[in-house]
Amino acid sequence: MSLFRRSLHRPPTRECARVAKVLQAYLDGEADEETAAAVSAHLETCRHCGLEAKAFAGLKESLKRSTAPDRTTRTRLQEFAERLSAGEIEVGDQVD
Ligand SMILES: [Zn+2]
Repeated sequence: MSLFRRSLHRPPTRECARVAKVLQAYLDGEADEETAAAVSAHLETCRHCGLEAKAFAGLKESLKRSTAPDRTTRTRLQEFAERLSAGEIEVGDQVD
């Protein structure tokens, strides 16, 4: 097996695994300079990780544009917990 052969369909390498671990931080701009340089160099040569990064970036973008469903869910849960502790809801009641 040649190290110099670069197939578009090659399986992820150990480098890919390393990149995958820091990809989120890299896209968030939280990776240190050395890591960011290594990741960006890898993304340029690795189609596998490049696509992964694109998917991540797209996801982040759509989350930014959405009405923060996470916060809504958290707020609902919090309100529910408050009503529950205030005795407004009996455990076992149907909660809409
Ligand atoms: Zn890769």
